[in-house]
Formats: sequence, C-alpha cells, structure tokens
Amino acid sequence: MSIYLDYQSAKPLDPRVITAMKPYFYDKFGNPSSLHKVGDNATNVLNDARLAIANFIAAEKNEIIFTSGATESNNLALIGFALRNKNKGNHIIISEIEHISIHNIAKFLTKNGFTISKVPVDQFGKVSIEKIKERINDKTILISIGYANNEIGTIQPIGEIGELCRNKKIAFHSDAVPAEGLLPLDVNKDNLDLLTLSSNDIYGPKGIGALYMRKGIKLNPLIIGGGQEHGLRSGSENIPGIVGMAKAAEIMKIEMTAEAERLSNYRDRLIKEILTNIPKSYLNGHPSRRLPNNAHFRFSGIEGESLLLSLKDKGIAISTGSACSSKTLEPSHTLIATGLLHEEAHGSLQITCGRFTTEKDIDTFLNVIPGVVNKLRKLSPLYKEE
Ligand code: PMP
Repeated sequence: MSIYLDYQSAKPLDPRVITAMKPYFYDKFGNPSSLHKVGDNATNVLNDARLAIANFIAAEKNEIIFTSGATESNNLALIGFALRNKNKGNHIIISEIEHISIHNIAKFLTKNGFTISKVPVDQFGKVSIEKIKERINDKTILISIGYANNEIGTIQPIGEIGELCRNKKIAFHSDAVPAEGLLPLDVNKDNLDLLTLSSNDIYGPKGIGALYMRKGIKLNPLIIGGGQEHGLRSGSENIPGIVGMAKAAEIMKIEMTAEAERLSNYRDRLIKEILTNIPKSYLNGHPSRRLPNNAHFRFSGIEGESLLLSLKDKGIAISTGSACSSKTLEPSHTLIATGLLHEEAHGSLQITCGRFTTEKDIDTFLNVIPGVVNKLRKLSPLYKEE
C-alpha cells in the first residue's frame, strides 16, 4: 500500500507537463540571448510562457520575472524592494505565521537597518486588518502577508489588506504558494504589487518559480549578471523549467475549479469523520476559511511524530507540518502563534490532498487512522493521565 497525502510538501509533475518540457532538453535547446534562429525560437517560447503565467494571475506579460522558485521570489520581493525603496522608509510588516523563508529574510533585513513588525493571528490563524492598521507608521514601505497558510491552510483577507495598502500607498506582497492552483488569483482585484509563485505547487517542475511585479514597482536585483529578466534576475533562462511551469499554469487555469471542488469534498470528509470517530481530536486552522486540500488535526496524548512514523510503516505519507522546517525539533511557529501549547503543537498532523488523490486513498486513510491513534494512546503515559 502506498498513499501520498502530503501535497503541500511536494507534488508530482503532471504527465502533460513532462510531455511539454521534453523537446526543450534536446531539439529546442536554444538560449533566448542568441541572435540566430535557434535563439529566436527560445525567445518566442519564453514570451509565450511569460504570457501564460501572467494570464494565470490576471497580470500583464512584462510584470512576470522567472526565478528559481518561491524562496528566491520571496528574497527578490522583500530584499529587492527594501533596498531599492529605503529612501522612502525602513519599516516592513509581516505576520507571525509567514513561511520560514519570509521570517529568515525579515531577520536579514533587521540586521541591515530595517524594522520588522509581526502581526499576530487569532486562534484560527487569521490576521486582522485592525492589527495591521495599528502597526502602520510613516516609515512603512511594504506589507507582506501570505495568501494562505502553508501548514493550517487558513486563507487571509487578502482583498481587504490590498485595499488598505492601496489607500495608504504602501506596497503589498503576498507569498501565494499554498493557495496556488486552489484559489483563483487576481492581482488587480486584490491590489497586489508583488506576488510569489512556484511551479511545483501547480504540478510543474521544482527549481523554477516566478515573481509578479506590478508595473511601476521598483526592485534592486539580487542576482547580477547579463541582465536577463528585465535586469532583475540575471543568468541564462531555465527554458525547460519555464515551459513546464507555463504548461502547468495553463492546465490549472482550466481545471482548477473542478479540482478544488473535488479536493474540498475529501477535506470535508476527513474533517467530519476524524472529529466524529476519534475522541479528543481537534481541528487546527479555520473551520471555513481554509484551503480546499487542507485538513490539520491534533490528537491529545500523542506525538504527531509517532503518528507519522506509524502511518509511514503502513505506507501512508503525511506530515506534521512544514517540510521546510521539519528537521528542527521546535514546534511549529504557526501553531504556537494560534495559541497552542508546545505539546498540542507537537501532537499535530497535516493532511494535504492533490490532483492524484483518490476516494480510495481517503477511505483507506480513514480506516487506518483510528486504530493507529488508539494504539499509540495505549502506549502513552500522557493519555492515561488524562
Ligand atoms: N513559501 C511557501 C509558503 C512555501 O510553502 C514554500 C515551500 N513549498 C516556499 C515558500 C519555498 O519554496 P521553494 O522551496 O520552492 O523555494
């Protein structure tokens, strides 16, 4: 038995994406910077791909910069913006539950003369507009709030934050990675100035991503060289990766609504049956404002880690939280920010479904999980004490 329910950590490529990419490793290997026909072909492909990504988020072609992935896009958005706009102010607002890459970028910026304010979240992981407003001052140049949380799946009020930023003339960045392919993204509707996108999160290859940058926004490049990507991200373009990401976005644009609906049925079944059938199990994250593919639980008296390993023995792949910080022993900063105690955060389990999840996977998981929880609780002194 092999069941994969950890789509937030990594997604397989869609076979249609692989087919689209293949020619760009062999026959169509050109460099867009070359002036001959082979180079021209690569330029055309790059332009088409840029347009596909722009269409995916209702942007314009020239507002897309290809990068090596979401981490680089976040670096370019925050550090690139901060360095270029430091004459206007040195204050940036993020939330307490941003992805680890944003938190570490914030640390870097703090060491380099910027002040970072972190907005708290409520028990469901939602940021409030009022709390953001309280932190804005005349030095605030940028607000960066993730579109939806990568662990508990809570969807943020992005439209409202965008409106606030527009009114206050503050630039607005969002890391959209967890929401990509699950929620429709529209940079104009949400007044976004910068948006981080990744390819793997829409079933494209890893190692490629993009940053949306609204016309008029100015950034300093972080990678300097031959001037590719409007001078903002030098280096020969990863054409096979870019083609793969564009194909993934085209497929997703067509299939997203139906796919999100199918996944939300799985999510709702997981939540309903687990909370009903397993005593002392609780839902983490928001009861309604949550990503269609995300179910996140805590089970009192047991460690998420032991649960993960017991399920691993049964061929089921799930996670206890963000793959990007899974090697640390620290509890999830997101769960702690929602007010959970360390032991509650450690007792949590994240289930994320995706394009290739089947109803049968969900049936099997739901059959297996109560027995595993029960067995671990019998071994747990913590649970007996309760
Ligand atoms: N932002 C978020 C919200 C993520 O979940 C991740 C990891 N998938 C990243 C950024 C980093 O992505 P990558 O490792 O592809 O750079």
